[in-house]
Amino acid sequence: MWKMKLGELIIKIKGDKNLSPFSVLKILSKLEDRDLTFYLSKKDINNIIVEEDVAKKVKKYFLEDYPLEYLTNKAVFLGNEFYVNEDVLIPRIETEDLVLLTLNLINEYNIKTVADIGTGSGAIAISIKKSLPEVNVWATDISSQALKVAKLNASKLDVSIEFALGSYLDSILDNIDKIELIISNPPYVETNFIEKTSFLKYEPRIALDGGQDGQNFFRELLRYSDILKDKVMIFETTEFNIEKTAFILSKIGKTYKLPDSFGKERFILVFPPH
Ligand code: SAM
Ligand code: GLN
Repeated sequence: MWKMKLGELIIKIKGDKNLSPFSVLKILSKLEDRDLTFYLSKKDINNIIVEEDVAKKVKKYFLEDYPLEYLTNKAVFLGNEFYVNEDVLIPRIETEDLVLLTLNLINEYNIKTVADIGTGSGAIAISIKKSLPEVNVWATDISSQALKVAKLNASKLDVSIEFALGSYLDSILDNIDKIELIISNPPYVETNFIEKTSFLKYEPRIALDGGQDGQNFFRELLRYSDILKDKVMIFETTEFNIEKTAFILSKIGKTYKLPDSFGKERFILVFPPH
């Protein structure tokens, strides 16, 4: 196991990139789980010793755009720390807004049972259960590896969720009558976009790929229209495709477009036509 001085590591990375010692220190502090002041209090930060495994991670972060969350196996979502690895999407900040909107809906309509389709790390399902412990929460995913991560997070964060492995609603059909609200952040990225976007290349393809126009998941969902037409549903999509998605979902119920906290219209609420 070799070690190197921080100054040398910065020079190595700088060969390819222009970066300040502080940006390296910030990453180092996350990887070593130490306060930034620990490093800043040293006489000469260039002399700080970095272990081989940490130095390799710092390089991977700066030179290969590898996500910090996968290097630390941590992602914070609505104030809770989730375990993440390459089997799950790194939960996004806009999805926090999706959950906050949904908590309001659950309260307003006195909803008792919800299902999160495509739960990934479990971020949505677990956050709902943590905020409203009296609500019954189901969570499904087509990926058994993702479900393993979600189960680990539920136990780490001490909540009880009904997990089910399967595509769309298939694994919860026996319980569908109880479920009043469906929430999902499905794969909705256009295939071409994934291929040209470096920061998406380490995340599971199955979590992102919405097909050529990004709408495959929503179109396929129409197969379940009969079952879904008396449910409240809320979905995340992109602001670029929201019209297409709303058009597809309007075949199930009345649709409403809602903005995230950056003002981008990217959520669709579908209400049963009463
Ligand atoms: N809910 C998590 C979040 O918001 O961070 C993960 C969302 S990720 C964009 C989409 C998830 O849907 C992935 O975990 C993927 O495995 C799952 N998925 C993809 N196709 C699916 C399908 N047909 N049925 C159920 N889950 C699916
Ligand atoms: N929000 C993610 C992104 O823009 C996409 C996640 C998804 O497909 N649901 O990278």
